[in-house]
Amino acid sequence: MFDWLIVGAGFAGSVLAERIASQRKETVLVMDKRDHIGGNAYDYHDAAGVLVHRYGPHIFHTNAASVVDYLSQFTRWRPYEHRVLAQVDGQLLPIPINLDTVNRLYGLSLDSAGMEAFLESRREHVADIRTSEDVVVSTVGRDLYEKFFQGYTRKQWGLDPSQLSRIVTARIPTRTNRDDRYFTDRFQQMPAEGYSAMFARMLDHPNIRIELNTTWNAARDRPKARRIIYTGPIDEYFGHRYGALPYRSLRFVHETRDVEWAQPVAVINYPQTEDYTRITEYKHLTGQTHPKTSLTYEYPSDEGDPYYPIPRAENQLLYRMYRTAASQLDDVWFLGRLGSYQYLNMDQVVGQALATFTRINAGSVPSAFESAAE
Ligand code: FAD
Ligand code: UDP
Repeated sequence: MFDWLIVGAGFAGSVLAERIASQRKETVLVMDKRDHIGGNAYDYHDAAGVLVHRYGPHIFHTNAASVVDYLSQFTRWRPYEHRVLAQVDGQLLPIPINLDTVNRLYGLSLDSAGMEAFLESRREHVADIRTSEDVVVSTVGRDLYEKFFQGYTRKQWGLDPSQLSRIVTARIPTRTNRDDRYFTDRFQQMPAEGYSAMFARMLDHPNIRIELNTTWNAARDRPKARRIIYTGPIDEYFGHRYGALPYRSLRFVHETRDVEWAQPVAVINYPQTEDYTRITEYKHLTGQTHPKTSLTYEYPSDEGDPYYPIPRAENQLLYRMYRTAASQLDDVWFLGRLGSYQYLNMDQVVGQALATFTRINAGSVPSAFESAAE
């Protein structure tokens, strides 16, 4: 018997395993159905020797100093500021939309004040900004919305932006200056030897045992611990008793080319053409020097692993039912992107796991946490 069973070896599960093992000196069994640790942040050297991310580009950025301090125990960092271009009307233009995007798209030479006036004349008044369409049309107007957001979002989510919560497109700002960085967080750096190396150091503790290729569903009848931390899909834990929560999946197509570089920046988005949403070239992210280059194409799909909870009101209502069921359990903690059905970035999941550890350490039970979070 172990003190704890943790389902999922991604950020949520690995942070808690490390904290419980090193700070509480308790034993932990970490179980994952995949054949590796790291969850969706897993990276590896492909057949050509290029460091790639199996589940698409993972760029670390945060404003949370506590998260950086914590992870820095397990990795050194390499500065990297992410830049993305979108192929629109035959040109490669900066996204987030900025001054250069508008000038180049429309053949203008506006300054920042000119762009502000340009947007003011195009933006639509929306009294109550609820959807992902509302966010964009009320900021940049319909033409930029259609060119940069509508097609990409329909492809990525299988839904029109008007059917998605505002939080989805609100992730992407609009700028009237020439800043072409994707993120503006204070800390933008990548783990110097990659994510998997960082996870290996986190989980390298005598109190932690890792069981890969093991699904919770197969193991749940033979509990190996009294307390459980569950970071898989919350609806799956409850046997989908209220119905399946919708998730969006992706099919990743990896490719190595016999050239040193394939594209000018790490990611190119395709909002108007192609069946894939974006192509990532990893060497921009990792700083690796290599005569070949490796890329990933992302094809959105309803079938496959659950990568994205789908933010819309009706799904949130269904999730609430599972949360209520979770609050009846005093020995199971649910967290992570799938366990809390939230569109979270890596740093937010680390923050959530550290906060959960604080509660565990304070002697809290999950139900207290659930009601406090309501
Ligand atoms: P996961 O990493 O999904 O880990 C959960 C683990 O649980 C998985 O390994 C899974 O195999 C395992 N599991 C699930 N069910 C079971 C079961 N029944 N039995 C056993 N094991 C199970 N975030 C950023 O900050 N920056 C980015 O650039 C970024 N890019 C992303 C790009 C893509 C394509 C995707 C999909 C996500 C991206 N993210 C990014 C988000 C990031 O992946 C997540 O925030 C983070 O990985 C979530 O960690 P987690 O531990 O909650 O979940
Ligand atoms: N988005 C878009 N066009 C773009 C980039 C983003 O329409 O060129 C929308 C799309 O709905 C996407 C969301 O904004 O799902 C969030 O983008 P982000 O790059 O944060 O997505 P992630 O990296 O999480 O897949």
